Amino acid sequence: MSKTQSGILRLESANTLKVIMNDYFQRLKDAVETEGKKVAWCTSVGPAELLYSMGFEVYFPENHGAMIGASKNADKYIPSALAKGYSPDICSYLTSDIGAFLQNETPMKRNGLDSVPKPDVLVYNTNQCHEVADWFSFYARHFDVPILGIHTPLGIGELSDNLIKSVSEQFKALIPELEKVSPRKFDMDEFKNTIELSRDACVLWRRVLEKAKHRPSPINFFDAAIHMGPIVVMRGTVYALDYYKILYAELDDRIAKGIGAVPDERFRLYWEGMPLWYQLSKMARLFAGLDTCIVASTYCNSWVFDDLDPDDPFYSSALAYSKLFIVRSEDVKEEMLQEHLKDYAIDGVIYHDSKTCPRNSNNRFGLQNRLFEKTNVPFLEINGDLNDPRCFSEEQALIAIETFIQQLSAKIYS
Ligand code: SF4
Repeated sequence: MSKTQSGILRLESANTLKVIMNDYFQRLKDAVETEGKKVAWCTSVGPAELLYSMGFEVYFPENHGAMIGASKNADKYIPSALAKGYSPDICSYLTSDIGAFLQNETPMKRNGLDSVPKPDVLVYNTNQCHEVADWFSFYARHFDVPILGIHTPLGIGELSDNLIKSVSEQFKALIPELEKVSPRKFDMDEFKNTIELSRDACVLWRRVLEKAKHRPSPINFFDAAIHMGPIVVMRGTVYALDYYKILYAELDDRIAKGIGAVPDERFRLYWEGMPLWYQLSKMARLFAGLDTCIVASTYCNSWVFDDLDPDDPFYSSALAYSKLFIVRSEDVKEEMLQEHLKDYAIDGVIYHDSKTCPRNSNNRFGLQNRLFEKTNVPFLEINGDLNDPRCFSEEQALIAIETFIQQLSAKIYS
């Protein structure tokens, strides 16, 4: 087997992951088919805890977008959204998801769902971007159901008390509207329990990611991008918490046995930006073949809401969901990245400039140069897109990545 084709070690927990993700989709299916059960759609960093606490099954269109990307069908669906007037320059999760819907297709067919689960309400938070509001509006119009939003300001520097209180009030304001469609009324104890379950799962997820500080790292970015499924769609439930106990134990076991996610780890990289969903396994093999482990990423770290606090559920929700990387100012992002580079002993950074997601492309305003001046950690920028493969030149990226690793090798081992 050649270097670039060398194997990557699959985590055993992936078998359990498959089962619990399938069970999650069955709950959604059941909710659609059962009178009295209700489905809320939620953005990936939206108020999932509030929705779960009020008895909704919660569906996340971004997870669906990632599934479409990973199934390598986005370019087949995007033209249908463009024909409806959606621009090729906007989020390709949005265009591929709406396009798939218009073509009556979904990768969830393998989980027994013929279509996306019909929503009873759609709830977004603009903490990640404003496009989610437009995305959800398409479905609100189509299904003629209510759409609710939390409007978090972008580019947050200081997390002032006033700002958090104003976001917290927006969380509270959702309740009377949700109660018009929810299976049960809001209950503070339920909400606190859900917040606690979410916080505990987030802490475990953080500890899973922190295992990558070990050399060799027992987990890499490509594993984490798959194993983050439960923290995205099931945080606030016992299912996510239970799953991360299993994954955590497996990583501990790998460390005890000296097993690395990349068999011969020599270089440790940081991935800044969205995954290239249609290239995930190819990229995993490519980096493994270059003895390079991508040990940390902004993306996977974005679901660490460990500020959630059952003793102060609204304020802490507002804090946790306003604190995440994507919603912060350039200065704060720079500081956060600087810490990650140090904590994970990073040799180099890869910035994925994702054509249709400016919010997750942090190399557009000089941050990459400023960070390099402060840390002396070299970086590489690659152009691509999260879902649309037509924006990505595999050959160009391959040459750039291999050259970058050669340069790192010369720098580290000379
Ligand atoms: S953050 Fe990027 S990928 Fe996510 S919904 Fe917004 S534009 Fe799409």
